[in-house]
Amino acid sequence: MIPNDFIQTLLSRVDIVDVIDRNVPLKKAGANYQACCPFHSEKTPSFTVSPTKQFYHCFGCGAHGTAIGFLMEYGGKAFPDAVEELARDAGLEVPRVERPGESERRAEAGDLTALTLEAARFYRAQLKDAPRAVAYLKDRGLTGAIAARFGIGFAPDAWQPLAAVFARYDDPALETAGLVIAGEGGKRYDRFRDRIMFPIHDSRGQVIGFGGRVLGDGEPKYLNSPETPLFSKGRELYGLFLARNAIREAGAVIVVEGYMDVVALAQHGIDYAVATLGTSTTPAHVQKLFRQSDRVIFCFDGDAAGRKAAWRALENALPVLADGKNAGFLFLPDGEDPDDFVRRRGKAAFEALIDRAMPTSEFLLAELCAQHPPTSAEGSAALVAAARPYLATLTAPVLAALLRRRLADLTGLPEAELRDLLGQAAPNDRGRGPPTATQGPSGGPGGTQGRRSIRVPQFGQRRTPSLVRELIQALLLQPELARSNAVPQPSDGTPDGAALAALVGFCAEGEHPLATAGVMQHFAQSLHEPVLAAALATAEDHGITAEHAAMHLKAGVIRYWQQAQRAGRAGSPEPGTPATAEESERLRQLEMVRRSVPAAKPDVSGKRS
Ligand SMILES: [Zn+2]
Repeated sequence: MIPNDFIQTLLSRVDIVDVIDRNVPLKKAGANYQACCPFHSEKTPSFTVSPTKQFYHCFGCGAHGTAIGFLMEYGGKAFPDAVEELARDAGLEVPRVERPGESERRAEAGDLTALTLEAARFYRAQLKDAPRAVAYLKDRGLTGAIAARFGIGFAPDAWQPLAAVFARYDDPALETAGLVIAGEGGKRYDRFRDRIMFPIHDSRGQVIGFGGRVLGDGEPKYLNSPETPLFSKGRELYGLFLARNAIREAGAVIVVEGYMDVVALAQHGIDYAVATLGTSTTPAHVQKLFRQSDRVIFCFDGDAAGRKAAWRALENALPVLADGKNAGFLFLPDGEDPDDFVRRRGKAAFEALIDRAMPTSEFLLAELCAQHPPTSAEGSAALVAAARPYLATLTAPVLAALLRRRLADLTGLPEAELRDLLGQAAPNDRGRGPPTATQGPSGGPGGTQGRRSIRVPQFGQRRTPSLVRELIQALLLQPELARSNAVPQPSDGTPDGAALAALVGFCAEGEHPLATAGVMQHFAQSLHEPVLAAALATAEDHGITAEHAAMHLKAGVIRYWQQAQRAGRAGSPEPGTPATAEESERLRQLEMVRRSVPAAKPDVSGKRS
């Protein structure tokens, strides 16, 4: 755990303009800096970096964040790694507050990493003395260079080869690391025997586990490390660490099913492929992938199992797809896997297949139509009903609109009628209000439509933000004002009200210096982030600047209580009127749900049928 006041200090020491400019060259434009957005493709720059707010925002795709957020989004780094990198540049040391038991866990994880690394070295050394294994790899067309690049090794055909490596073969840590199995009667033996060994790396390049392919006819053909404190197959992707640069260069990442596929593709110059590890694609995988690239191509066998696996990937991709990010689905012919295919037909043929990958919309509708052919009125109705939960999970407005149009074509229903059936708002209604709590930080219409996402008053020409929005804007620009002003914490159940209440709660507490970026970082990934980011991005458009924030805030607070009294709400304009117990409980629960489903929408409704 990194203490919050350190994050605040760190963000006040680094300059986001430098941090971003190193990766995406920026041009000065008025008070801000601009570039073509690195998170979506565009020809005119809508990616804006504000040196005063220390915050970036794209008015095209809604991407936004602090210097830490940028390193996470653009560099694919985990939060602690992004903090570490910035701290290094700023010459600061990251202090850590340990949770109970954390130091033990970390020490254990550290020990385990040392063990897996030791084992990886051993397996690699064994490969040289294993002619059968070398012959197998050569037979698959792999060169020594590729085998070395992937750190491929060999686990000898014996019960306890690792006993030669570790002084204490009975060390329980070997079991925890998944290297040794304790059998009946306490008899211990190596998990991996007579197998080609593929080390699995985490995002920092540390070996956290292994995949092993049996050399002979033994079962199972593929064996992975079990779930350990280091390794979780639902989160890790084989080859991702090695493929990072190639993925960026190719502008795409291919997801295949086996490690041999990844290695074989790399052997043929397609080095931007990764593999799931004996599991179907999880939401965590999809998020990880889209952090690396806007284009993710899932590659499966063309058989029934392959289509089923693809469908699972599709279900997990839909909620995280934003416009500008696309998932493609590719099915290989005749029961071939990518390894066979690329060996027989080469790189160009495989890349031609990639170019023809089925877009998400097409795959979704093709599968739904196969189950519910819209050849009759009943069939059309069933198709619409089946499509409904999938459209409901979508946060990408353009893709949603496209799907509705295609569905209208297929069923012969007018789009307006279809919209009612699908229970979705008309496009003109969307994006008018502020993003609601259920919309993702950048995927929702509010985020995507940027400037147009501000609440528009029902009557009147000027786009004035609501009073609550103004208070949010003033506070975000000068967060310490919350300590010297009694800012209301509305409990009206609106997203803006809830965001203001949370903002005041956070800013008023503590004594350490607070700056805009620090506050935004605190709310990154939270329920309130969409509202806060939209408010911050448009503060100047509403005439609220850091310089005049205090004045705006004071005037706003007075108006707030006047309005509240006129409306008969809030009998006492006491400072910091707390949310009701019921309301704060509801928010706490929403927050919990949101955190447990990182970056996806809290409501995926689970009503897929
Ligand atoms: Zn963008």
